[in-house]
Amino acid sequence: MPELPEVETVRRDLQAHLVGRTIESVSIGREDILRSTDCARLVAALTGHEVLSVGRLGKNLIVELSGDTVVLVNLGMTGQFFVCEACAEIDEHAHLVAELSDGMRLVFRDIRRFGHIELARAQSVGESFTLRNVGVDAMSDEFTAERLEEMLAGRSALLKNALLDQRRVAGLGNIYVCEALFRARISAVARCGELAPEEVQRLHRAIREVLRESIAAEGTTISDYVTGRGVPGSFQERLRVYGREGERCRRHGCTGTITRIVQSNRPTFHCPECQSSGGMNRGESY
Ligand SMILES: [Zn+2]
Repeated sequence: MPELPEVETVRRDLQAHLVGRTIESVSIGREDILRSTDCARLVAALTGHEVLSVGRLGKNLIVELSGDTVVLVNLGMTGQFFVCEACAEIDEHAHLVAELSDGMRLVFRDIRRFGHIELARAQSVGESFTLRNVGVDAMSDEFTAERLEEMLAGRSALLKNALLDQRRVAGLGNIYVCEALFRARISAVARCGELAPEEVQRLHRAIREVLRESIAAEGTTISDYVTGRGVPGSFQERLRVYGREGERCRRHGCTGTITRIVQSNRPTFHCPECQSSGGMNRGESY
């Protein structure tokens, strides 16, 4: 599913190709993808309005329009949000299609429909369904090692689950949490309060590093994700643990094998050999 690097890549593409364009007409195929609005209200709010900016918080896109309106987009599991030529083919999974000035088209496509589109007023966007419970963005200046340490201190919850909780740090999903724990050499079964300050620093550095590298590679395409220009990302070629079950560990000098375990119904990929920090709990059940 799209995580921070994928959503940031979409944001950058839309910022480059959507801002300054006016939405000339809108068609919505399915109302069940809409939040806090209905088809008629969303069509009225979009039609004739210019796109002023495209922002992001965590895994959410914030499209600011003229007329004091903001459209919030969450890509869910399989969502795609991209600009293409107006003549490009679209299928039944394209739930919102907006025709733009200059003969381009904006498409929201989502096969599994866990994504959504919300209409909000610019002045009350923080209270919206999409954003009201979103914590500090993992690439923002506010997300410091000290902040991460505060989030984890004294808690017995599984570290991995805490990092996935969007109410605390926003933007991380299963892929980048697995990758960041590996880079920081922290046990995939560590609990929040077990990390030494030095390990929290290492984890923070690893999170920023893997997100930055993935943004530079336009994100990870495992199945459905495409950029805001409708093409796949390339970071899947550089994943070190995610999806590599049974393969040799890529850390220099480590002879371990990447292993897949299931935690809270999600797969975790890790190297049990070299990811040992933070865990007094190796061998513990989870
Ligand atoms: Zn290893």
